[in-house]
Parts: sequence; structure tokens; C-alpha cells
Amino acid sequence: MTCLRIRRLPALQDNLIPLLECPHQRQAAVVDPADPEPVITALEQGEMELVAVLHTHHHWDHIGGTTELLRRWPQAMVVGNAKDRHRLPPLSHPVRDGNSFVLLGRSVEVLALPGHTVGHVAYVLPACITNGQRQPPELFCGDTLFSCGCGRLFEGTPAQMLGSLQRLAALPLDTRIWCAHEYTAKNVAFALAQDPHNPHLQAFAHHVEQLRQAQLPTIPSRLEVELRVNPFLRCHAPALQAATGKTDPVEVLAELRQRRNRI
Ligand code: ZN
Ligand code: FE
Repeated sequence: MTCLRIRRLPALQDNLIPLLECPHQRQAAVVDPADPEPVITALEQGEMELVAVLHTHHHWDHIGGTTELLRRWPQAMVVGNAKDRHRLPPLSHPVRDGNSFVLLGRSVEVLALPGHTVGHVAYVLPACITNGQRQPPELFCGDTLFSCGCGRLFEGTPAQMLGSLQRLAALPLDTRIWCAHEYTAKNVAFALAQDPHNPHLQAFAHHVEQLRQAQLPTIPSRLEVELRVNPFLRCHAPALQAATGKTDPVEVLAELRQRRNRI
């Protein structure tokens, strides 16, 4: 029986580092440690041992803290895409699409999500039952899916990104989404300009504004919400087809991403 607690540690300008803790075993895992300091502080305060560092992709703001964390906890497993191992910290556990492994008593599945980078992966903890209660699935999706947005296409094509987003869209509706950046307010402003008559988006914009005024994070989001408000998950919707003047969802996504790049 495991009881997993997840926190997001603010780092750098707008990164959020997911920290997964099992208080009973006093063990923790971290995803994409941009900066080692907040992770070390959190673990020391909780007297936790770091047992794993998971990487979604090779960008510096996702791997920057790994070396320092390993100096402190050299036994921690280091997970990342085998295909990208030449540009990730040394991996003790190279993984591929469809692999699964156990972390803090929960199983973790690996999804390859090319688009932001070609070797980008996400980690999914499927739903489980703890003390008779359903624990929702947890998704750590790096820079592929943001709340009300998606990552830039640095290496992949719009078709690849659409395929990756569609895989995420097929996860259970109550999946909690731990994005790597707090970009939500900016993303909502952009989304409203593209999809102004979407009542779900209007309500979400209000919700996000309230959270930000209270200086609260908007992450985690939930898939059920993202499917209604995120324009990059709505490339098939007539409203976004009309806004972009395209019908093919790949072209809708490409056009939306280009417009988003300009702001
Ligand atoms: Zn990135
Ligand atoms: Fe990033």
C-alpha cells in the first residue's frame, strides 16, 4: 500500500518541478529538476531520500539539477529516453515507449511524445485504489502539453505533435496533468483570441485569473478540463478550424502554434 504525495516546486522563472513523495518510506522522486536547490531543500526538510530522477527531455531547464542531486544521492535511479541518452545525464534506466517500471510502489508507464523534441517522453502513473479510494492517474508531460497550450516545435513536426497530443487526450478523463511550466495565464489569453465563444474557456479564464490573483499555481490541471479549453487539443473543433481557416487538424495545429510563437 503506498500513499503518494505530489508537490510542485517553483524553480527558475516559471518552471514547476514535480516532487513525488512516499512519506511512509521517506523516499522521493523528482521529474525534470531544473535547479537542484528547491529539491534539496524540500527533501532535507522532509528527511527524505531521493530514489529517482525522471527526465522528459534534454533541455537545460529540465536536466540542470540532476548532476548535483546525484552527488548527494548517488544511488538514485536516473530515467530517460534511451534514444536521447547522448544528450541526457547518464541514465541508469534508459526507457522506451511502452516500457513500465515501479516507482515508490506505483507503476509508471512511458509514452514517447515527439514534437517539442524528437526524444520527448511522458510518464504516466495509472489510476490505483488506495484504502478503497480511486487515486487518479498522474501525467508528467514536460513541455509537450501545457494547461491551455502546448510546447514549441523545436525538433518535431506538427503531425508528430498532433499524434503526441492525441495520445495524451486518450488517457482517462480524471488524469491529473503536471506540466513543467506555469504558462497558463498567457496561454488562456491566446486561446481566448482564437476561440472566443467557447463557454468552457471563458469560465476557465475566470478561474485562472482568480488563482493567479491569489498567487496560487494553476497546475496540476485535469484532462477533462483541457479537452474543453485547450486549443491544441481541439484541432478538430469547427471553432478552431474557422479561426485558422484550415480543416486538416495538422494544419490547424501548425497555424495555431505559429500564431502562438509570435506573442
Ligand atoms: Zn523544453
Ligand atoms: Fe521547459
